[in-house]
Amino acid sequence: MPRLSQWLLVATVASTGCGQTAPPVSEFAAQRQRMVERQLKDRGIKDERVLAAMGKVPREAFVPPESRAASYEDGPLPIGYGQTISQPYIVAFMTEQLRPKPNDRVLEIGTGSGYQAAILAELVSEIYSVEIVEPLAKNAEATLQRLGYKNVHVKIGNGYKGWPDAAPFDAIIVTCAPEKVPQPLIDQLKDGGRVVIPVGERFAQQLYLLEKKNGQMKESVTLPVRFVPMVREATERVIDDH
Ligand code: SAH
Repeated sequence: MPRLSQWLLVATVASTGCGQTAPPVSEFAAQRQRMVERQLKDRGIKDERVLAAMGKVPREAFVPPESRAASYEDGPLPIGYGQTISQPYIVAFMTEQLRPKPNDRVLEIGTGSGYQAAILAELVSEIYSVEIVEPLAKNAEATLQRLGYKNVHVKIGNGYKGWPDAAPFDAIIVTCAPEKVPQPLIDQLKDGGRVVIPVGERFAQQLYLLEKKNGQMKESVTLPVRFVPMVREATERVIDDH
């Protein structure tokens, strides 16, 4: 239990901050717990391991300084290069759908800030994450290293092709939206494996859960979502929009 003097110190620091200043660490921790209660549990996220991971990973470490104060708001946030870090509820929902198990090896397409990878890193054995925008990949890798995640491997490349050298995977999570499910991802999934993927047109897609059973794919639609499109060619990538 913190002593009273520590509580007072926290309260003073928090109340002297002006609107745009990011709150101190303890205030972020309190906001994180509120996010878990109101945005996740109240909306039906039940997996205790997923809730614990969402309550542990500091989302503020993955958000650019100018948006840090909004780290636990109920929405996506810009991470530069025209990309976004997803709303906490969507991260938790997709992670729960993936049914992550401690020994799983998971492929992620669209590293972005690295936040979703960090959540998974708390829950499975190894994450292989592919990002097409080089500076985002480098930045995510640095953040993950700084926070001590050693089980996330980041590659710069076109995630449409998956990561053949590290395949097969127990689960695949895609956080950018193709118009059709890329066949290489299905090929790189183990039997019994799960894929969570938004599919559809620009900024209006359905989130699918795909399961491979005896070589056959079973699909179900779970939620309407809005993800950035999956870029098909490296030449289409936005390198600098600052
Ligand atoms: N999971 C991320 C959010 C991802 S936003 C997080 O937790 O922050 C979607 C990301 O997909 C963007 O960073 C975008 O650059 C990336 N992306 C788009 N097309 C891609 C492709 N073909 N291969 C790999 N990454 C891609």
